Amino acid sequence: MIWQWRLIQRECTGCGICGDVCDYGAIALDRLTAYPEGVPGACVGCMVCVQECPFAAIEVLPPDPPTGSAGTPVRPATVASTKL
Ligand code: SF4
Ligand code: SF4
Repeated sequence: MIWQWRLIQRECTGCGICGDVCDYGAIALDRLTAYPEGVPGACVGCMVCVQECPFAAIEVLPPDPPTGSAGTPVRPATVASTKL
């Protein structure tokens, strides 16, 4: 499953703490912009960056639900009722 973190740029100071605490290498501070940048597919949704950011400048979004061939969400299989 691919989680995604999202920067709330107006709140970010570029302190780099989020990149320091991410054990999965999913965040690195961009030297040009001084804002965190993401590594696609690396985030596992552990939420450590959210907890450690002193400015509430980052949020983590869960993976999108799986979609069917027509792009519609897949419903969980229903359990057939059994007659007693
Ligand atoms: S810890 Fe928060 S304020 Fe610091 S660089 Fe990361 S998102 Fe920005
Ligand atoms: S949720 Fe965890 S894995 Fe994802 S960017 Fe934040 S610290 Fe890294």
